[in-house]
Amino acid sequence: MLICTVRDCQLPLRREAHRVVCGKGHAFDIARSGYINLLQPQDRRSRQPGDTAAAVAARRRIHDRGVTAPLLEGVLDLSRPQPADIVLDAGCGEGFFLGSLAGRIGCSAHGVDIAIAAADAAARRYPECEWIVANADRRLPFADRSFSLVLSITGRRNIAEFRRVLRPDGRLLIAVPAPDDLIELRGRGRDRADRTIAEAENFQLRRQERVTTSAALDAAAVDDVLHSIYRPLQEQPARAMTLTFSLDVLLFTPEKTVK
Ligand SMILES: [Zn+2]
Repeated sequence: MLICTVRDCQLPLRREAHRVVCGKGHAFDIARSGYINLLQPQDRRSRQPGDTAAAVAARRRIHDRGVTAPLLEGVLDLSRPQPADIVLDAGCGEGFFLGSLAGRIGCSAHGVDIAIAAADAAARRYPECEWIVANADRRLPFADRSFSLVLSITGRRNIAEFRRVLRPDGRLLIAVPAPDDLIELRGRGRDRADRTIAEAENFQLRRQERVTTSAALDAAAVDDVLHSIYRPLQEQPARAMTLTFSLDVLLFTPEKTVK
């Protein structure tokens, strides 16, 4: 169900031993770690290069401390993935949510991120899933109706593309930072849930939950959080503190007729 990302091509990509190739002969190498880079030159010039390797590593260390495990439980609780599901995580980062979900449920799992560092880290940790580097802002490199569940967890959202790649009986889970997410570091944030619901045209909201957890972190972990949100340059060195992690999790289903 992968499709070629060469401009105006969009033919299906067929997997060979070390590459994927379309009917016109456009070929993309499968990296040693297992991810597939489908970025086109025009995408690379984008001003959204994605996470750096340092931010990817910092974020993974935070997940590995177990701090974000309650957020994963919240995502699982609302999306209720089943073994038969075919899941896309758009903006998958280093793969924690999708890789953990797939490992527990055993479903087919596909992650897309624009950052090579993120896809590489995801492929090394979760080789049972498919990891793709692509610019999801433009077009997701998958055929129409490929997925029964699409996840967008604190990523950039392309609602029209989510609708295109989702089956009519599928579901879409969007998680956005809640106003109290990392409130100790960045103050109270905006409430993004209402705007996200309004922007999800052609979808119907089914469930909405706020999932919140907090963790007492040592200075090194707080430093990792600062790196993961690109605020490593503080006046004071990071110190041990308790941080709040909070997501607004929204579950949608497609409306029957597209407006
Ligand atoms: Zn092609």
